[in-house]
Amino acid sequence: MTSPHDEPVALSMDAGGDTPYGFDPDALRAKYRAERERRIRPEGQGQYRRPDGEFGYFAEDPHADPEFTREPLTDRVEVLIIGGGFGGLLAGARLRQNGVESVRIIEKGGDFGGTWYWNRYPGIHCDIEAYIYLPLLEEVGYVPEWKYAPGDEIRRHACAIGHRFDLYRDVCFQTGVTGLRWDERESEWEVATDRGDLIRARHVIVSTGTFTEAKLPGIPGIETFRGHTFHTSRWDYAYTGGDADGNLHRLADKRVALIGTGATGVQVVPHLGADAQRLYVFQRTPSSVGVRGQRRTDPDWAASLTPGWQRRRMDNFLRLVTGNPVDEDLVADGWTSTARLHSKVIPNNGFADLPPEEREHLYEIADFEQMNEIRDRVAAVVEDPATAEALKPWYRFMCKRPAFSDLYLQTFNRPNVTLVDTSDTHGVERITEQGLVVGGVEYEVDCIVFATGYEVGASGVLTGRLPIHGRDGVALLDHWKDGPRTLHGFYSHGFPNLFQLAPIQNSTAANFVHALDERAQHVAEVIAAAHQRGIRRVEPSAQAEEAWVRTIREKAADLHAFQAECTPGYYNNEGRPRARSESYGDGPVAFHALLRDWRANGGLDDVLAPHHRTNGHHG
Ligand code: NDP
Repeated sequence: MTSPHDEPVALSMDAGGDTPYGFDPDALRAKYRAERERRIRPEGQGQYRRPDGEFGYFAEDPHADPEFTREPLTDRVEVLIIGGGFGGLLAGARLRQNGVESVRIIEKGGDFGGTWYWNRYPGIHCDIEAYIYLPLLEEVGYVPEWKYAPGDEIRRHACAIGHRFDLYRDVCFQTGVTGLRWDERESEWEVATDRGDLIRARHVIVSTGTFTEAKLPGIPGIETFRGHTFHTSRWDYAYTGGDADGNLHRLADKRVALIGTGATGVQVVPHLGADAQRLYVFQRTPSSVGVRGQRRTDPDWAASLTPGWQRRRMDNFLRLVTGNPVDEDLVADGWTSTARLHSKVIPNNGFADLPPEEREHLYEIADFEQMNEIRDRVAAVVEDPATAEALKPWYRFMCKRPAFSDLYLQTFNRPNVTLVDTSDTHGVERITEQGLVVGGVEYEVDCIVFATGYEVGASGVLTGRLPIHGRDGVALLDHWKDGPRTLHGFYSHGFPNLFQLAPIQNSTAANFVHALDERAQHVAEVIAAAHQRGIRRVEPSAQAEEAWVRTIREKAADLHAFQAECTPGYYNNEGRPRARSESYGDGPVAFHALLRDWRANGGLDDVLAPHHRTNGHHG
């Protein structure tokens, strides 16, 4: 290991002095603060750059046919869905289940899958249990092969949903939507694309994803490097050889640098370490790496499953990780065993069983214990003491997304693998024609792999890259100039028949796909009801929108104090936490119940106003 900062740290479990815990909370707090200060960068998000201009090749699609062409479309559909990841697929499936036939998905990639279409890096898996993460398993008639599914299986399942619900019939792949404009006279959207289409759609559902915009670090000299480079979301197997299972045989004579040790880096490192002649892992902040416990699906268990099993398991997990009572822990893994700690990023009311101060105190102690275990595991697995020290995460558990691996830490025991700690230099200092510089040392390499993550949550809607003009030509971002304004996160006044599936003013979950499915079901039922009642406009009133924004604000959990103390990352806007949470403060279980209740008790009548009838005037 090479590090300019190998200070000894006396904060193990037995350094507790006379505290009752076996460790000293004050010393840990001070250590966390000091480690945070080392990493804070004044530029915040400004340290990153988009993969455009001369870096446009980072975002190209290595999987689709670059020669693909087709005639522009100028037809009409009932529902147009932007995005063919799990959100779009679930919306399409739920619409079909509700009897809506005219559905077209528009997707940038060459097939369904979204994140799982783009990300095919070696080692890719989903570390949320497959039996609850892969949606519509019973509908498709499939039981995953492993407890944690590899990316390829997830992608194939996405395609299987496309086939099962006949969503390939009218799909447009390799197509990006460039703008939406509301036609008041016809009560329809005009949808423009980068293939010259001008499609008319009664309803539009936007599900453009969370991890779609890869980001690159703005390291000085990045443009001067003469070797090979790519981002993990566009893995270049032509260069590395092998596939998602590894065997990267073309790296046998290559010196490789990996920048980034988030959840992606943790999955990639074991394969690069196994196959590259030399691997340098450039780490700024270590991930917390828990035990993964991968195992094959037991065929007897699979045969014993009874109808409704997946829904029960998903609900059980969601209830458990949000502090709602359950009789048993069906998933029983690293997420469920640390459930209480997750309420630090996904607000919910489930754990509110104690006075706030006492609760905070207990959380913090549980957090220290959890992180001590994680740090002790590093020390037990990694042989070189200085490397082990640098791999220990010094922050609270949910400051960064936890990672799980039974192979990652072990890889640093290989003689060809070197950890380069960049925490004192705020990351890689400089890139030269032939390598990377940290602490005055130049590491010459043939290839740089960027595992540097995404502009998280930067949907085209929020960035303005997907311009939307509603009634009277008003831009959605103008309507939202003081922050999003929606009813339940789905729709806004002045933008009829437009539905968003993004995690805005609703509630998200550790099992992201579960939350997406609840939203997709809701939107599908609203659209189907409009369809059946012959109503051509679905729109919340200005009052309903205002009331929901008020509810969101009133219930907003104060995550600010927690996030302000966290090491920088995308969870806390690189160390500058936003003033307020836009999530529903009572958590996802309550939010889903609220949606069901709203549908069952007349809510539909409010957004499907009678003056919106097909055969009426347009109001
Ligand atoms: P992250 O944003 O989590 O990680 C980016 C990494 O790049 C960090 O380690 C960051 O360091 C590092 N980095 C950025 N700039 C520099 C620099 N200038 N010098 C050195 N290092 C730098 O991206 P990931 O792709 O790992 O993960 C994104 C998300 O994708 C995850 O949080 C998770 O939600 C999802 N994911 C889910 C998986 C699953 O199993 N379900 C698997 C993989 C990803 P620092 O931390 O210091 O900023």
